[in-house]
Amino acid sequence: MERKCAVCEGVVLIDKDNSNKAIQHKKRFYHFDCFVSLCDQKIANKRTTLSWTDIKLHIDDLVQDTTKNQQNEVAKDDLAQWVTSQYGLSCISSRLFMKFNDIYSGTFRGLAYPILPTEFLEEWKYFWDELCIIRRYKTLVGEQAVNYDIAILLNRNAEYRQIMERERVDREARRRQIEEEAIDVHQIKTVISVRQQMISSFIAEMDESREE
Ligand SMILES: [Zn+2]
Repeated sequence: MERKCAVCEGVVLIDKDNSNKAIQHKKRFYHFDCFVSLCDQKIANKRTTLSWTDIKLHIDDLVQDTTKNQQNEVAKDDLAQWVTSQYGLSCISSRLFMKFNDIYSGTFRGLAYPILPTEFLEEWKYFWDELCIIRRYKTLVGEQAVNYDIAILLNRNAEYRQIMERERVDREARRRQIEEEAIDVHQIKTVISVRQQMISSFIAEMDESREE
């Protein structure tokens, strides 16, 4: 994504990982360095000192938020493209487009919280095989099938979050186990090398006493 820097008016390039550390603040975009100098300028102006000192202090959070926003923007496009190809649509209708936005913002009727595009796309892919099985004997075409599946996905989001949380906990436990095993192996190796040293010095002593 390309945006105009609100300070220097140059092009701000924001890739998926936001490797340029671009900053989005109050709907405006900035180069990292431009934003820092803006902060300094604002801090120097005594009337605004407090809030801008705070903003500069938390500049890493701003970069992270900008990165997350960018990933969601990319995921919005990815999801639209993925749905278009998986359901054989020619395009996303404006009604469907609005529905997606309501889901992302959490304003969709019956939805208790927003589901961000990154998560919604992952969930859709996760349940894809199941969705196809459920739909197999139904005669839903195009956007009908999409709407049918969206209803299922929204219903099952809480369950999906539980599954993801369980997987995260399992991954964490596995990582810790591997670390502990690595420590064990290190300890065993130390014990063996100490033994080997003892044995070789014992042999050396024996040789010496035999020579005497
Ligand atoms: Zn700039």
